[in-house]
Amino acid sequence: TLSDRLTATFKNLRSKGRLSEADIDATVREIRRALLDADVAVSVVRAFTGKVRERALSEEVSGALNPAQQVVKIVNDELVAVLGGEQRPLLFAKTPPTVILLAGLQGAGKTTLAGKLARHLREQGHTPLLVAADLQRPNAVTQLQVVGERAGVPVFAPHPGAQESSEGGVVVAPAADPVAVAREGLATAQARQHDVLIVDTAGRLGVDAEMMQQAADIRDAVRPDEVLFVIDAMIGQDAVATAQAFADGVGFTGVVLSKLDGDARGGAALSVASVTGRPILFASTGEKLTDFEVFHPDRMASRILDMGDVLSLIEQAEKAFDARQAEEMADKLASGEGFTLEDFLVQMQGLRQMGSMKKMLTMMPGMGQMREAIENFDEREVDRIEAIIRSMTPAERRNPKIINGSRRSRIARGSGTTATDINQLLERFTAAQKMMKQMSRGGGVPGMPGLGN
Ligand code: GDP
Ligand code: MG
Repeated sequence: TLSDRLTATFKNLRSKGRLSEADIDATVREIRRALLDADVAVSVVRAFTGKVRERALSEEVSGALNPAQQVVKIVNDELVAVLGGEQRPLLFAKTPPTVILLAGLQGAGKTTLAGKLARHLREQGHTPLLVAADLQRPNAVTQLQVVGERAGVPVFAPHPGAQESSEGGVVVAPAADPVAVAREGLATAQARQHDVLIVDTAGRLGVDAEMMQQAADIRDAVRPDEVLFVIDAMIGQDAVATAQAFADGVGFTGVVLSKLDGDARGGAALSVASVTGRPILFASTGEKLTDFEVFHPDRMASRILDMGDVLSLIEQAEKAFDARQAEEMADKLASGEGFTLEDFLVQMQGLRQMGSMKKMLTMMPGMGQMREAIENFDEREVDRIEAIIRSMTPAERRNPKIINGSRRSRIARGSGTTATDINQLLERFTAAQKMMKQMSRGGGVPGMPGLGN
């Protein structure tokens, strides 16, 4: 699996700085294979991996991840983004009924989805009405009626009861106009105050102009708030052409991926989303009415990559890294060693910036020692402290204990101060260091260290 192959790659790669092109190419190659295995359209794979490679080349290496892991994280992030990022809910009309039109090839799963969606909405307190505007297939109307009954949702159909007759084994569909049925369905929903109308339409095995025109005519008759394009997740490489044909012929606001319960890794999701830029709203995962889910881009990304385990490893690595850093910092502070004169200087410089806010801060209640510190704040003092610290060698800054008499006079000369000034600074620093130690033990913030007497 991709997981195994990448885990093997991870073992060999460990480097600092920028990701090397070789690292990236090796990983991108595996990703490309995984996407093709998941039946993502070739053109989509090419565009996608190109984008990933570009981003990986320009990205800093994170401390937590090795290069291969980092590329995988980029791939995952990009996948989630192309799949729509956030979960996109159904959009309801300001004035009901909300009209939802289903479009897609024959066998895509529209009628099944109509029932699932109706049930889902009913459970959420809506009062949907289903409309059977597929008069193409002999059994289409009865199929929707069966589905509606199971969902506990009424169905508007051209001829209530049996609308089909059999003559010599040939099933003859009643001659009726699907556009008129859809229009009457809408009028019925308005009259009976259904707040959602779900219109099931006909499809063909392949895309053809007549079918497209019919769907477009129904669309014009009911002016849908959402047109959902239902596509079989197993469709594979045809996904792009089919989605494009429906995007051009009818147009759609969202996608439903059906038959995700099968072997399909869901590459069609990426193909359709990337070619049409439309979000995927729902997934159909079986023949039962309850086999239905709102679509989550992040979960689908893991499924397409077939490496949820690798992704969770990456997540753990990042978390562990953050925790380790925090722990190291706490250790440093607890021992008092971590807080150096450099840190002290940074703190002083921060205070200098705060000096300009002196007035505002002194007006704030409850500032306690902090207020006192700021009131007594003298900018020139910070200048002096800065000059002294700048005149020290790095070794002296790291470990002020080595500052003896001769070092002291050198620093005083360099900073235009006196040996007393230096002693005072070092005393303050020691006090500040002690305070940092207390703070890191959970003693709270004991005022601003290093200031005041
Ligand atoms: P339509 O022609 O687009 O209306 O498609 P249908 O709703 O009639 O579905 C075609 C076939 O696919 C039927 O046999 C359904 O039971 C089946 N089907 C629909 N959705 C799913 C699904 O999510 N999973 C599985 N396994 N079968 C499905
Ligand atoms: Mg159907």
